[in-house]
Amino acid sequence: MAAKASAKPLHEDAVGNWDIEADVVVVGYSISGVSAALGASDGKTKVVALERGGGSEGTCGGILYLGGGTAMQKAMGHADSADDMYTFLQAALGPGVDEGKLRIYCDRSVDHYNWLVDCGVALITGPDTEGTPLATPDPDGFVQVGAQEYAGGGLVWTGGEQAYPFNQLVNAVPRGHMPRDPEGQEDLFEGAVLKSMLAAGERSGVECVYNTGVERLIVDSSGRVVGVEGRSFGEPVRVRAKRGVIITTGGFIYNDEMLAEYCTPVLTGAAKLGHGGQDGHGIRMAQMVGADAIHMDCADATLVNTPHISFIKGILVNTLGRRYINEDTYYGRLGTETVYRQNSECFLVVDDNIFMESSWLRPSWASDSLAELETQIGLPVGSLEDTVAYYNRGAAEGRDPLFHKGPRWLQPLEPPYAVLDLRNQSFPISAFTMGGLRTDVTGHVLDVDGSVISGLFAAGRASAGLAVHGYCSGISLGDGTFFGRLAGQTAATGD
Ligand SMILES: Cc1cc2nc3c(=O)[nH]c(=O)nc-3n(C[C@H](O)[C@H](O)[C@H](O)COP(=O)(O)OP(=O)(O)OC[C@H]3O[C@@H](n4cnc5c(N)ncnc54)[C@H](O)[C@@H]3O)c2cc1C
Repeated sequence: MAAKASAKPLHEDAVGNWDIEADVVVVGYSISGVSAALGASDGKTKVVALERGGGSEGTCGGILYLGGGTAMQKAMGHADSADDMYTFLQAALGPGVDEGKLRIYCDRSVDHYNWLVDCGVALITGPDTEGTPLATPDPDGFVQVGAQEYAGGGLVWTGGEQAYPFNQLVNAVPRGHMPRDPEGQEDLFEGAVLKSMLAAGERSGVECVYNTGVERLIVDSSGRVVGVEGRSFGEPVRVRAKRGVIITTGGFIYNDEMLAEYCTPVLTGAAKLGHGGQDGHGIRMAQMVGADAIHMDCADATLVNTPHISFIKGILVNTLGRRYINEDTYYGRLGTETVYRQNSECFLVVDDNIFMESSWLRPSWASDSLAELETQIGLPVGSLEDTVAYYNRGAAEGRDPLFHKGPRWLQPLEPPYAVLDLRNQSFPISAFTMGGLRTDVTGHVLDVDGSVISGLFAAGRASAGLAVHGYCSGISLGDGTFFGRLAGQTAATGD
């Protein structure tokens, strides 16, 4: 965790000499930062990035959420459109999605895919890619790659597209695009997208100064952001930005004060999904010059990092012994519903058949009697008996009248039963934050009136992106690269 520094802005009159001069300065050089730098690199614009870590610290996964008819989708025979993608994402990421941003993201998603490929991002082209086979189906036909259900070729289902309620809205289409190591060494290489993009940044002549944590913005008398002050090995570094500063410093899951200020208390105790650089200081620096920050209470919370088949076939119940969600939905949705609506308190109920398939399960309680389990867990008398009886009646007919779990996963639960305690203290959820600086579509940071803060831009998890109260795997790398690039292009114009 970074040392606490004041984020109060410095007036340019106090600067004296600038150590570095650039047209565009990017703060934080991970996936959004490198995309911003590439967006600004038009051959005439000097771009300097400042990165606190010794190399990029981004704990960048690999999946990119793209669609609307990408070459990969077409190759695998999936008919997608920008409108279908929009309809799905508006429902899955909301409520509260920025419709202007979502529209442009969907309309230009195919172009963005092509740009990423041109930058050198290597995508898995099919199951025959060199290396280990991607996955083998389990007896239920469920094929898992990493934490996702495999959809063939280089695609995975990453947002619950096939599950209720989204399958009622629009045709289910997979949009999670998987990268591979650009050197072809390893499929599903964590960080593969970042590695490829950093190489593209180097080819484009982006200068990155590492080991330099930016502490505050520098402003002129009109309030325009004209540079940044950082610190490198204890020494101050002042960098002039003639056209703009782009903040891409990530979210704030590692800042417990900000978590306590903005988020549900459950998140403060959550396992942190990310890296210590995500301390919110970039957001604070911008707030200090009047930036608005929105959706600060929102986070992607993951109940289990791998949605095993046992989760889907079992039932999740809350402390009232009631189900509250269709268990076949995206695992991030299971986590978010559990954290925000169940105070992170739930139990997984399975039976012997499911248990036998699930070597990872370590049941907290087991019994032939649901009444006995209620007493052991501390659930209201009769609650679990009622829940299981009702579920079993529907499951026997291939129906889930309450939550519409797909018939493929429905089977009555028979004794003996096992219950896994998933309450936060025994099975911590992991999370990263979604809220951040309020930006317009082209990346300008806005104040609380919605006015542009001159010279200041943001993208990635430091900004409020596409995901608000819901999430899909791949949307962070998706919106970070897309809106990072756009912010870079805008900043380069100096407007
Ligand atoms: C294990 C894991 C797997 C994931 N998998 C996926 C996936 O498959 N698909 C997906 O879309 N998302 C995934 N995510 C989420 C995704 O990696 C992040 O949301 C994404 O990295 C955010 O990118 P960013 O560039 O906005 O910020 P970050 O990647 O957090 O980068 C911010 C950078 O800024 C630097 N920095 C911070 N403060 C300062 C400062 N003051 N001065 C200078 N530099 C600073 C940091 O050192 C860091 O390098 C995953 C996350 C984790 C943890």
